[in-house]
Amino acid sequence: MRQAARRGLGVYSEIEAASWFCDAPIVAITGSNGKTTTTSLLGHVLRTAGRDPIVAGNIGYPFSDYVCDTTGDDVVVLEISSFQLDHVETFRPRVSVLLNITPDHLDRYDHDFNKYARSKFRILRNQREGDVAVFNADDALVRDYVTDRSAGQPFEARSVSLNPQNDSSAFVRDDHIVVHQDETIMETSEVALRGQHNLYNSLAAAVAARAMEVQNDTIRESLRTFEGVPHRLELVRELDGVRYVNDSKATNVNAVWYALESFDAPVVLIAGGRDKGNDYGALKALLREKLEEAVSAARRFASEGDIVLLSPACASFDMFENYEDRGDTFKRLVMSL
Ligand code: ADP
Repeated sequence: MRQAARRGLGVYSEIEAASWFCDAPIVAITGSNGKTTTTSLLGHVLRTAGRDPIVAGNIGYPFSDYVCDTTGDDVVVLEISSFQLDHVETFRPRVSVLLNITPDHLDRYDHDFNKYARSKFRILRNQREGDVAVFNADDALVRDYVTDRSAGQPFEARSVSLNPQNDSSAFVRDDHIVVHQDETIMETSEVALRGQHNLYNSLAAAVAARAMEVQNDTIRESLRTFEGVPHRLELVRELDGVRYVNDSKATNVNAVWYALESFDAPVVLIAGGRDKGNDYGALKALLREKLEEAVSAARRFASEGDIVLLSPACASFDMFENYEDRGDTFKRLVMSL
């Protein structure tokens, strides 16, 4: 890549190159956390609506494997990482979704948060008239940037928020999800995925689905039936009244914050791994104790009604192949208790 740059040749990400051959409208989802969940959820919404979406990108299926089969009648849902956005030029989603930007991967951006944030914002750069940008109005960095950027731009910015006091396209009021100002879709307690973070993911998927002409009834049905993605707050088993939860994909501080926030019961947390330049200070207030011991130790600490939560805040490469390997190992240990 360095040689190419020296010779003045373009370097493009696979997403960019695949998009040159795509006739279908693209919904592209990015953010520091929630990409895979929101991408899978939107795929589920579209399938429930009777469409047959292509779900690809950073989620594990290369866009280029599928792109040649797309026609204008298809819909493509892509999970997009910041690294993929670093090398896009003309990539233009019909609907972009920007979930949140919090510190992550800083070791790959010279420990400069602004550099990392700028790469996320590239998802908007080619959006035009008729395109929609869905963003999280409760994330000040995202809100300020998108509001600034969309002023005078032809694309339409639609926000989501957990705060009822605003003009968002989807928000929560009196424990109900409301879209387009006054269309009440459902009670928040009906949403299958737990936790505040998953409400954001659900609101974002709902607004993106509406932009793709999916009806409220279908959205409601889908949010009620979505089973979630493995390694994201996945319940492994209950043993002696203790619930064991695998959140191996929580590789940064913000994800762990939301994981801890989503339980009322006392939590024994198993954390740690390969550091990526995060500042763990934000977690101190939520943590009474930090345990880096094995599952058997966690079992001794937990009493009936507690949660044993693997939510590491770090990458897995210190001991494991990847976060799936770490999560699978945790599940195996828990099942052998
Ligand atoms: P990504 O693909 O962006 O890594 P995932 O959906 O795989 O996101 O979730 C990664 C971790 O972040 C999990 O621990 C999950 O519980 C947590 N998470 C999911 N959605 C959000 C969100 N909107 N905000 C913060 N944390 C989230």
